[in-house]
Amino acid sequence: MTTITCYGAVGCIGGNKILLEDGDARLFFDFGLDFGHAGRFFNEYLRPRAARGLLDPLALGLLPPLEGLYRDDLAFAGLWERFRPHPLYRDVRRDGLPADAVLLSHAHLDHNADLSYVNHAIPIYATRVTAFIARAMQITGQMSFERELIYVNPRTPSESGELKSDSKAAYRCRPHYFVDGALTPEAQDYWAHLPKSDSGKGKDFAPACAERAADSVNGLPIRWWPLDHSIPGAGGYAVRTSAGWIAYTGDLRFHGKNGELSRRFARDLAQLHPVALLCEATRPDPDPSPITEADIIANATALVRAASGRLVVADFGPRNVERLESFAQVAHEAGRALLILPKDAYLLQAIALADPDRYTPPELWPMLQLYADPKAAPRPWERTLRDAWPTPLVGPTEVSRNPGAYILCFSLWDANDLLDLQGVEGGIYLYSSSRAYDDEQAADLDRLRNWVRHMGFTLYGDPDDANRVPLHASGHAAGPELVEFVATVRPDILIPIHTERPEWWERELAGSGVRIQRPELGKPIVLA
Ligand SMILES: [Zn+2]
Repeated sequence: MTTITCYGAVGCIGGNKILLEDGDARLFFDFGLDFGHAGRFFNEYLRPRAARGLLDPLALGLLPPLEGLYRDDLAFAGLWERFRPHPLYRDVRRDGLPADAVLLSHAHLDHNADLSYVNHAIPIYATRVTAFIARAMQITGQMSFERELIYVNPRTPSESGELKSDSKAAYRCRPHYFVDGALTPEAQDYWAHLPKSDSGKGKDFAPACAERAADSVNGLPIRWWPLDHSIPGAGGYAVRTSAGWIAYTGDLRFHGKNGELSRRFARDLAQLHPVALLCEATRPDPDPSPITEADIIANATALVRAASGRLVVADFGPRNVERLESFAQVAHEAGRALLILPKDAYLLQAIALADPDRYTPPELWPMLQLYADPKAAPRPWERTLRDAWPTPLVGPTEVSRNPGAYILCFSLWDANDLLDLQGVEGGIYLYSSSRAYDDEQAADLDRLRNWVRHMGFTLYGDPDDANRVPLHASGHAAGPELVEFVATVRPDILIPIHTERPEWWERELAGSGVRIQRPELGKPIVLA
């Protein structure tokens, strides 16, 4: 029997946790965090408690109650008794691992973050770039049990029952199988060692398998395709089950620089005649005036040229490397240096190490320079990076002296560092990121406007300004492109995920011969 069970991304955007079972094979497509659901209970300061491990996310329904799937070291004695009466409870323990693999589509947190809780012996299938982005983020981010995506800091129960991190237990790496090729020896070496720990104690690190993926998982053939999305390393999958091929889009678009990859995915899937297609629809509405990266480069270049002699701040998600490349081109055309922060440089180095054929290390980008934000004590990874940087670092004094020579890549989270700059009034702030999706993001956008006003900058690209100069292109396909995609693939069944409007598909595909099967949370869809 072949079943698909969606434990997330049902009627909402993100939190993809999709279980595919066929005979005794069991694998997940993604294991992401549902930001909307989590945001109803948590904010930046109110977080799940590390000392209680799985309790908080299970009790709040952020994780499905699948006993055996998660890390043993996050389950205190008696935890599971509490969840056995839950309607979605399932015991997935068996001989060996509770799942054969998690197939990751890309490194956005709504697709991979809840991996942190998952049994760390379960193999992860991903592209090299997806894995290296997650690793760079874990190393440069705040250490937290909610973000142990690549290596795990094992906990042990204390006398009183709370889970504590064990200073003697080595970090344990999750086994990785790379769907797009093997690591170079240099990348392998990087993967097998962690930077010295911040505490200076230097816990041991237990490496795990990091090799090219085979073409099947527990007897099920798998295929992977690179896709166009707003993060490098993104891709989609198809798995051949006893019911036929089952395909999964992850997130995709067609209007980016790599749109042709997504079109090839459609054509190749059509050849497989999939029985089921799990497809995102983040943006079902048609896009009346589609924006491309080329438009963004042209718009930003015009604004930067007009701001001659004044500072330019560019605000976009640093993992959106395509956008970073766009701003590097803007900097080149406007004769300015692009200044990035050490954490972004670390990320770019990791990406270039993962896929050296496609990505150039940031030290070799001609117009790119490293911004030295004042820090009392940079963490070890950052000290190493600053020390090894081949050109002089640029600090607030240089920028204040010659603001017209730079484009500074900052976001709201770096706003404090703007206060180090003097004489930069009259500068421009290019907001090149998405609109606010919830109240918290709307509040952050308001804070950003306050910072921009306080600094005496002019804001461009404000998503709430109907007359804004467009400086952002979405990471997701618009409705008509999705319909065309599905019309090309022609699956027997379409399973709408990662959308707030699953019913939209029913209207769009009426009479097409494609049957829509709307998923219900935790309820298996039986295919054969
Ligand atoms: Zn995404």
